[in-house]
Amino acid sequence: MKNIILKNIENPNSHRIEEYIKAGGYFALEHAVNEMTPRDIIDDIKKSGLRGRGGAGFSTGMKWQFASLDPKFPKYIVCNADEGEPGTFKDRVILEKNPHQLIEGMVITAYALQSVRGYIYLRAEYPHVEKILNDAIQEAYAKGFLGNDIMSRHFRFNLSVHRGAGAYICGEETALINSLEGRRGDPRVKPPFPVNSGAWSKPTIVNNVETYANIPYIVETSPKAYSFLGTRDAPGTKLFCVSGAVKNPGVFELQLGTPLREIIYDHCGGIRNGRALKGIIPGGLSTSILTPDMIDCPMDFANLARHGSMLGSGAVIVLDDTMCIVKIYERAMRFFEHESCGKCTPCREGTGWMRTILRRIEDGMADMEDLATLEDVAHNVAGKTFCPLGEGAAQVLLSAMKRYRGEFEYHVKYKKCEVTDPSLRWGHMSMDELD
Ligand code: SF4
Repeated sequence: MKNIILKNIENPNSHRIEEYIKAGGYFALEHAVNEMTPRDIIDDIKKSGLRGRGGAGFSTGMKWQFASLDPKFPKYIVCNADEGEPGTFKDRVILEKNPHQLIEGMVITAYALQSVRGYIYLRAEYPHVEKILNDAIQEAYAKGFLGNDIMSRHFRFNLSVHRGAGAYICGEETALINSLEGRRGDPRVKPPFPVNSGAWSKPTIVNNVETYANIPYIVETSPKAYSFLGTRDAPGTKLFCVSGAVKNPGVFELQLGTPLREIIYDHCGGIRNGRALKGIIPGGLSTSILTPDMIDCPMDFANLARHGSMLGSGAVIVLDDTMCIVKIYERAMRFFEHESCGKCTPCREGTGWMRTILRRIEDGMADMEDLATLEDVAHNVAGKTFCPLGEGAAQVLLSAMKRYRGEFEYHVKYKKCEVTDPSLRWGHMSMDELD
């Protein structure tokens, strides 16, 4: 399997610029600024078929083209390193082990967009990464890969780290931009989209860490070489971070389209403790749960959509038969309620009500009418919120209630969880223990 992102991370000093250059790093930037026009780069990224790795999967080349056609100046290049989706820890590996590949990708993007200023918006919970990034940025300045005369080509680009304050919603690009500007991190109305009116109302590219880290490979090889990886609709590799009930959790770089079965059984060693697979959350907590019969689903945008879910951040959370679905979604809803920014009523009120009813079901205090009310509340949140947080909260609950209906009904009918073995880890944990 070809590694693009993780190829050098076994080297304990992979984060240092000397090691990165030794492994061929910054060659793509040199090639870009000396032999390509900004237009060539945008065309190559479009041809490569690269799609954003943060969750939405929008065409990276198209996004760049929209921003490049906007005559406003300056243009801003922003890296979304606010990796807050529960279950997701793949960008962290790039930030810790391969920061120069991210920086190189951002500088090439800046050259393509003729931008002079960039920011890495880093999640508050990664304080140790801030130092790694700042050190890497200083190394890049010292070598002339950042600054006012990059590679003696009169090309100027300055980059700095901006640390968030711990709000999940700031992973949404317009909330991130508000936060970057020093405002409260609320999502903005779209349109206008950031490519036309982003930071300080100027054209702004917001891409995920992993998306930028793919850019040097595409520029250095060719869009065609890149498009040979993955699938026709979703070229390239993807970092899958797998957690939960598997023997070997971790981050794996695999081609897009790799079946879930291969990820769970070949790369992660299967389900731990000989238990049975109960479900898979394929792309972070905000993506709908899959049942074990969907284990052969290829992990790409289109196939997951066909199964009623999403690729999301590529955070695969594996559940075994010791885990209570009601408890998992009660806990998930506590998270969404806590992280709701409160701007729109359906999300602000709905997440709280959904959590309250789930808690009642979990406590054995609910009747069948509560199940109907829970669905009703979720339907009144879905499609009626300002940003994807509320929508995701409602949709994941509705899919869990549909796919694990029997388990919800069992809770209501028998006032207890059908996961009854007292030795089971999740089924009998108190909420305090879960905290
Ligand atoms: Fe805020 Fe939730 Fe509305 Fe998004 S959906 S704007 S997080 S209240």
